[in-house]
Amino acid sequence: MSPAIFSDQYGRYKRKLRISVTDRCNFKCMYCMPEHPEWIKKKDLLDFEALYLFCEFMVQNGIQKIRITGGEPLMRQGVVHFVRDLQKLRSIGLKRISMTTNAHYLAKYAYDLKQAGLDDLNISLDSLDAQQFLKLTKKSIEPVLQGIQAAQLVGLPFKINTVLMKGKNDDQILPLVNWAKAHSIPLRFIEFMPLDGDALWHNHDVVTEQEILSVLATQFDLRELKQEHEPARLYRLNDEYDIGIISTISHSFCGECDRIRLTAQGELYNCLFAPQGLMLKPLLDQIVAEKNTDLRQTLQRTIHEKISAYIWHKAKGFHSLNKQPRKISMHTLGG
Ligand code: SAM
Ligand code: SF4
Repeated sequence: MSPAIFSDQYGRYKRKLRISVTDRCNFKCMYCMPEHPEWIKKKDLLDFEALYLFCEFMVQNGIQKIRITGGEPLMRQGVVHFVRDLQKLRSIGLKRISMTTNAHYLAKYAYDLKQAGLDDLNISLDSLDAQQFLKLTKKSIEPVLQGIQAAQLVGLPFKINTVLMKGKNDDQILPLVNWAKAHSIPLRFIEFMPLDGDALWHNHDVVTEQEILSVLATQFDLRELKQEHEPARLYRLNDEYDIGIISTISHSFCGECDRIRLTAQGELYNCLFAPQGLMLKPLLDQIVAEKNTDLRQTLQRTIHEKISAYIWHKAKGFHSLNKQPRKISMHTLGG
């Protein structure tokens, strides 16, 4: 493998980059947002010029897939334009540009995103029951369903992601599967992870992969499929429809993790559960501002060394980390 690809001490090469473009969100999902969020100040956000430079640098070093996330990425002004800019990186190795969204504003942006060259979306949908959806997110389900329709209309491929919480929306397993199956929409269940804003997560809130399978087995014949390079374990239902389960808690997939992520303020995280990130914004801003080619190259070598060392020290996995409460949660980290 080429030496230009970032890898960690356990031989995991980094091919996927998640970039959070904002920590702001119009939803208040109970497994994510704190009760009283403190938003990053606008002046502390990494601007799109520095973010583009970072993405270009990462693609030069082996990144093949970029996912734009947040907070709610469609709340950052200029994000469609940014997707268009990223197209230039395809010629140097970028293969896929994706976005994760709550879909509230998707009806407005689906066409533009498609035109800008976005490859696909992950759409979060945790319930089909309007009352339950409102309780879980503090927003109405209607715009989300319209957003899903808009994505279908413009031909933007998408998957639905559902985080299940015990006693909150675990009654939605069969309704969601039947709905997704009827519309031929790919669906993945995600185990609730200890990344909620107010650190209230408890083991007993998690609906485990095994529990999901037990519910599915009441209605379907299940067959496990060979796991490719995806974190989701795939199951075929009645030999006609596949669903995925991402079970970070009960069956972590850390052994194959090829991801790294950048927060909206320009801090690199080598793992969702990393105790500390690597702040890159000052250096990225300096590189953007530097007009002297030699000095710019020196700065680029510095950033390469810093990133390389930080990624190298990625921990073995979720279960090997001493999970201290951190100030950073999923809406800041970019799920
Ligand atoms: N706002 C967008 C959305 O909700 O799709 C993008 C950002 S959100 C942080 C990205 C993903 O993280 C969503 O699919 C969300 O369900 C998931 N997520 C947030 N908090 C989580 C948690 N504590 N455990 C598992 N998944 C979580
Ligand atoms: Fe917002 Fe996404 Fe977090 Fe829900 S999961 S609060 S939509 S960032």
